[in-house]
Amino acid sequence: MSPEFKISEIFWSFQGEGCNVGMPAVFVRLSGCDLECPFCDEGGMLGSNPRPDRMTAEQIRDKVRAVSGQKFPNVIFTGGEPTMHMKRKVEQEALETAFKGFYTMIESNGHFKVPDFIDWVTVSPKDDYFNGSQRPPDEFKFLMESTGEIYGKEFGLVFGVESIRKVFPDTTIIIQPITYDGNELKSQKATAYALTLVKNSNTNIRLGCRLHVITGEK
Ligand code: SF4
Repeated sequence: MSPEFKISEIFWSFQGEGCNVGMPAVFVRLSGCDLECPFCDEGGMLGSNPRPDRMTAEQIRDKVRAVSGQKFPNVIFTGGEPTMHMKRKVEQEALETAFKGFYTMIESNGHFKVPDFIDWVTVSPKDDYFNGSQRPPDEFKFLMESTGEIYGKEFGLVFGVESIRKVFPDTTIIIQPITYDGNELKSQKATAYALTLVKNSNTNIRLGCRLHVITGEK
């Protein structure tokens, strides 16, 4: 029997963050996470949709095609934590078969292994659990707080920017300021700290943005 995946939503938009910013893509949001970050706008552990759909890989693919109107649109698996739903071989194989020919991306907190069929891997560590033994990501994304700290210290994130640079000398590191809803000053502070860190770095560290927030897209 085909495995089913818990889907919060599937929508056609564009990548607003990271190295692929501006790329049109369908987002497949899998429900729930194993973390509960205070600023999470995707519902943390419970997920943003109290009644997620249960869909097979083929049903997800068909919906992806329907919302985009394209046969092979770019696809971003996100969450929540999408890799939580792809731990079993049967799940990985079902998605790999259904999405053959697509350009597939994933956004993960780095807690679980990313399936081999995924073309582009973004890891945004929120704590120390990511230990570098998994598949090397294509980019890391760290979140900058208004205090000038990289988010995660309170959850034991000591495997920070400099440590990651030693293990992954060539992987792009994005420093993305947290956007504080309704608090422009805090958002500006976070941006200023992020910019300072990027300007003072002599490695491949870039300032991240959230273009979809600026443009009002989802
Ligand atoms: S890791 Fe991401 S999805 Fe999970 S709770 Fe934190 S911000 Fe939300």
